[in-house]
Amino acid sequence: AQGTLAGRVAVITGASSGIGEATAKVLAARGARVALLARRKDKLDALRDAIQEAGGQAAAWHVDVTDRAAVERVAAEVFERFGRVDILVNNAGIMLPNPIEAKRVEQWEQQIDLNIHGLMNVIGAFTASLVQAGAARGPADLVNISSIAARNIFPAFAVYSGTKAFVTHLSVHLRAELGSKGVRVTAIEPGIVGTELQSHVDFQGARDWLEGSKSQIEWLAPEDVAEAIAFTVALPKRVNLQQVTIMPTAQA
Ligand code: NDP
Repeated sequence: AQGTLAGRVAVITGASSGIGEATAKVLAARGARVALLARRKDKLDALRDAIQEAGGQAAAWHVDVTDRAAVERVAAEVFERFGRVDILVNNAGIMLPNPIEAKRVEQWEQQIDLNIHGLMNVIGAFTASLVQAGAARGPADLVNISSIAARNIFPAFAVYSGTKAFVTHLSVHLRAELGSKGVRVTAIEPGIVGTELQSHVDFQGARDWLEGSKSQIEWLAPEDVAEAIAFTVALPKRVNLQQVTIMPTAQA
């Protein structure tokens, strides 16, 4: 394949919709072979077919990333299939705002399980491959999808924001730890992006806030974030964008 990412292999979690799907398409269009991970098999298979019809190379694994043993199995299969992993886009995530007094414990756990434990399962399963790629010729990239929620204050988003603060802070530390091994680590922090993320919100106050925002400003498209990720991973090996904040122009 031709392109700035020719020869590289990218794993993308949460590839069945939104930012992950758009990122898979852009990275494949730039020449990377892509491994698509998420739970919905039909969506992943359709994306794999679309990428292949466009001339790219893709394979799909339907997996729940909160299942550590399953993620380890998939990592072994990806390595067997492609022989290397140079880029990991750790993107699967969920946002379930609700006032803390509502005590929606199952929502707290869902967000912590996926945004923290799921993210760590994926990092655990693929870091050895990234280090191997970084040592061989590099660069290798670990891209974690955080959010502006990691630093901005949004009432009722405390648990989500806490998980994303974890993602950003973890990324900064891992960058320091893995940089000497040729592995770049980047935290991507988007403002509002129009995806399925908002469809899971059941707190009316947050739904109203999101609706109001959508009617007033033009939200980012998933492709906008995908382009930023593609730019980040195509930089020369010596350059590591540590944190990338990408906002809708009109979002305060
Ligand atoms: P989507 O809901 O469109 O995408 C989430 C993806 O995660 C889906 O592909 C979903 O697929 C996958 N996923 C969910 N649960 C699991 C699981 N247990 N195992 C594997 N995959 C899973 O939302 P976005 O594209 O917006 O979200 C992507 C990331 O971007 C998230 O981390 C989110 O926090 C972050 N983000 C989003 C912003 C926005 O405004 N949209 C702003 C800032 C950050 P499936 O259901 O098939 O498993």
